[in-house]
Amino acid sequence: MFDRYAREVEFARAAMAEAARLARAVQAAGAAEAELKADASPVTLADLAVQALVARRLESAFPRDALVAEEDCGALHGAGGAARLGQVTAWVRRAVGAATAQQVGAWIDRGGGAAGGRYWALDPVDGTRGFVRGGQFACSLGLIEGGEPVIGALACPGLDPALRPNARGPGVIALAVRGAGAWAGPLEAGRLRPLCVSAQARPEAARLLRSYEDRHTDPRRLKRIVAALGVRRPPRRLDSLAKFVLLAGGAADLVLRLPTPQRPERDEWVWDLAAGALLVREAGGMVSDLQGRPLDFRAGRALTHNRGVLASNGALHAAALAAVRAAGPVSPPDASDP
Ligand code: AMP
Ligand code: MG
Repeated sequence: MFDRYAREVEFARAAMAEAARLARAVQAAGAAEAELKADASPVTLADLAVQALVARRLESAFPRDALVAEEDCGALHGAGGAARLGQVTAWVRRAVGAATAQQVGAWIDRGGGAAGGRYWALDPVDGTRGFVRGGQFACSLGLIEGGEPVIGALACPGLDPALRPNARGPGVIALAVRGAGAWAGPLEAGRLRPLCVSAQARPEAARLLRSYEDRHTDPRRLKRIVAALGVRRPPRRLDSLAKFVLLAGGAADLVLRLPTPQRPERDEWVWDLAAGALLVREAGGMVSDLQGRPLDFRAGRALTHNRGVLASNGALHAAALAAVRAAGPVSPPDASDP
């Protein structure tokens, strides 16, 4: 079913399954503690070890391809950095056998590749706060050619194949190939089934997904959008790109990513969206920014031409965009905001 990209799809599937295994092992060992990066976002041993592992696998499988990934070795410099790199190296060794700290550092930094031409976009652990809290998280890998995502692979260890949250379940792998479709199945082995968005066209019955964390969205603007659209059910909180998997599989109808009042100018990153956006589109849905513009993956590592994200089953897209317009812009910062 994947013909043209058969090797790349097999690689992405295996790499994300292996990534999820490593992330879960870190969690099971009680080592999923977060440190804060320079931009105050969290990073764990799993983020760094998974990035090194996938970069290492990519170097062997597609040595000429660039990698654009979330992490760098910044968190491994300064006080305690060498010890931390040692811990990351120990986790990477579990997967690849022999590896020196120097090699692991170089693999992590391979993620600083150029976002142009053909490149892979990796979010080693998307939803790091969910990962630390025991909520949803995802390992995400996309292949981009000429500014278009052509392959998306997402591993969601906290979902079961019916796309319900299940911490002890087998996990889910979701795959998309541009022009060919989207599929999901058990994370480790088993049949993939085609993903298809819902046919829900009535806004009042829509199931809307939002970030679990208030600090990743704009709760007051979200309320205004929900009121303008007439959605009856309260938006459901879910961490990570698992939201896009539920939408692609018909288990939700809308996903909104809203810029926060604290940082309204914050850009989205290619690794946060490439795989998830392709998955939703190939399942028959639509993805745009909050003004209805297509996501522009030609801008570089950051999607500087877009603000926020609306993903839908397609049937609700126009109504949701109108509600976003009616609800007005980003809320002013509020003393009670997190
Ligand atoms: P979610 O799972 O919906 O909470 O989104 C997780 C993503 O939110 C991460 O991949 C980050 O890129 C992004 N993120 C991190 N910090 C912020 C922030 N301050 N505002 C908005 N998004 C953020
Ligand atoms: Mg992320």
